[in-house]
Amino acid sequence: MRDVLKTVLFRRSSAMVVEECRRCGTTVGSTAANCPECDCEEIVRYTIQ
Ligand SMILES: [Zn+2]
Repeated sequence: MRDVLKTVLFRRSSAMVVEECRRCGTTVGSTAANCPECDCEEIVRYTIQ
């Protein structure tokens, strides 16, 4: 597990937002407008409770 993810989980136990490329499934940064892998602009945002 990445340190960033741990920090988010331990900081608060509420929802966590994940952004993922709709085409290839790559997890992208929250500020990214395009997928770094396939340059797709369709970024899916969903929340993990
Ligand atoms: Zn992609």
